[in-house]
Amino acid sequence: MEPLHQKVTDALNTLLPSGAPRLVSRWNGRIEELVGQDDAAVIRRDGTIEVAARRLNDPDRWRTYLHELVHAHSPLSGQTDMEENLGWEEGVVEHLQRIIRPTVLQGRMDVDEAAIRATEPVWPYRPYIAAFDKLQRDLGVTDADAGRWYAQLLQKPVEGRRQFLAISVLRSPGRLKLMEAIGSANTVLRKNLRR
Ligand SMILES: [Zn+2]
Repeated sequence: MEPLHQKVTDALNTLLPSGAPRLVSRWNGRIEELVGQDDAAVIRRDGTIEVAARRLNDPDRWRTYLHELVHAHSPLSGQTDMEENLGWEEGVVEHLQRIIRPTVLQGRMDVDEAAIRATEPVWPYRPYIAAFDKLQRDLGVTDADAGRWYAQLLQKPVEGRRQFLAISVLRSPGRLKLMEAIGSANTVLRKNLRR
């Protein structure tokens, strides 16, 4: 897991402009079995990744590990901030997981890419992915630039990501429309789909 972890850190930092502050992981090196929930994975506040027993050997387990390792690079926010901005975290993390996956898992023989892809249309947080897809289009972020865009969002605390985007469009000519796009994405991204 350690070499994979380093690859994730490197892949995320490669997306950032040179000279930008680097993303740092808070994973503590431990993966434990998540007790009490049978279909989940989380990274705890102390940096331990917990994965439900059922998922440890799932064909799509590499997606789960990657997703949690991307979370590890997100600045630690308060529990309430996280719950109130869940889509701003899950959408950014999952998009980055999908962007870096081909690079990070390249050459591994035990990766079932078809199984991984099959999970994407049924992923419980997919409304967040759709909201970000739309926001990206509305703000004119090209697919080629999406990696940098999401990595820069990941650097900000979850409760500050909306404002970071709002500030970034302030001087744009079409700023009213752009602010509206951020606002309507925010409505989806602040819904807590975990509850
Ligand atoms: Zn997540």
